[in-house]
Amino acid sequence: MASFSNQTKQELARLVPTKACCRMAELAALLRMEGLVVQEGGDMAFTVGTENAAVARKVYKLGKSLFDLEASFTVQRKRRLRKNNVYTLCIPRQPSLAGVLTVLGIGGLGERASRYQDLKRQCCRRAYLRGAFLGGGSLSSPRGGTYHLEMVTQDAAHAGLVQDLMTGFGLAPKTSQRKRRQVVYLKDSEQIADFLKIIGANNALLDFENVRVVKGMRNSINRLVNCETANLSKAVEAGMRQAESVRLIRDTIGLEGLPASLREVALLRLEYPEASLKELGEMLSTRISKSGVNHRLRRLEELAQELADKDSGRKD
Ligand SMILES: [Zn+2]
Repeated sequence: MASFSNQTKQELARLVPTKACCRMAELAALLRMEGLVVQEGGDMAFTVGTENAAVARKVYKLGKSLFDLEASFTVQRKRRLRKNNVYTLCIPRQPSLAGVLTVLGIGGLGERASRYQDLKRQCCRRAYLRGAFLGGGSLSSPRGGTYHLEMVTQDAAHAGLVQDLMTGFGLAPKTSQRKRRQVVYLKDSEQIADFLKIIGANNALLDFENVRVVKGMRNSINRLVNCETANLSKAVEAGMRQAESVRLIRDTIGLEGLPASLREVALLRLEYPEASLKELGEMLSTRISKSGVNHRLRRLEELAQELADKDSGRKD
C-alpha cells in the first residue's frame, strides 16, 4: 500500500490549476524543490528527480501546457538507500528553454535557485505551496504515533519563502537544518489539516481528519474518565473533612445546641462521610437541594473553624 505521503502526492499531482498564473507558480516551486540544471552532452538540460511518477508527470504536464516544452522520462534505481524508483524528467535544450528558465527565475548551470516572485495572488500562493509539498514534502500517517509534515529544500532563502507563505495562511511552521538541507515543518495536527486544506488535498484531509477524530475521541474519553475520578476523590475528601468538623463540634460544644436544620445534616454527614451532597439532601426529613446541603455543611465547617481557633487561642 502506498504511504500516506505518496497517496497525498498522487492526489495533488492529479490536480491541475485552471489558471495559468497558478500553473506557473506550481511549476516554479516544483522545479526549485526538485529541479537541477545540468550539462548533458554539450546541451543544457533540466532534470527533475522524484520518487513519485505522478509528480514527474505533473511537471511534464505543467511544462507542456505553459511552454509547450519537450521532455522525456527516465527511471532509475540508483540511490541505494531508497527503495523507490527515481523518475527523472529531462527537458533538453530547445529554443524555448532559456526563456522558460528566465520566466521561472532559474539561473544557470547547476543552479536550483529559482527567484520566482510573482506570488501576490492568494491562488498562486496556494499553488506554490502545493508545488513545494509535491517536490520536497512528506507527511507521516495520522495513524502513527506523531503528526509530522515537512518540506525539505536546498537553501535557507527558499525555506524562508515557503515559511512566509505558510505564515500568510495563518500557520506557524518551524524550520531546522538537516545536513545541508533546510526543513520546514509542522507538528500540530490542526495546522497539518489546515495545510492540506490550503493546498487542496481534499481526500487526504478527509482521511486525516477521520483518524484524528477517532483519536481525539479516545483522548477525550480518557480525559473524561480521569476527570470524573478526580472529582469523585475530591468529593470524598470534602466529605471526610466535613465529618471531621462535625466531630470537633460534637466534642467541644455538642450538637444539641445547634439549630435543627444544621444538626440533622451534621448527624447524617457523620454517619455517611462518603455520601454525595445530593444523597444527603434526599436523606433529610425535608428534602433539600444539593446547594442547600452545601450551604449547611459550610456553616458547620465555619463553626468548627471558629471553635478550633478559639481553642488554639486559649492554649497560646
Ligand atoms: Zn494564480
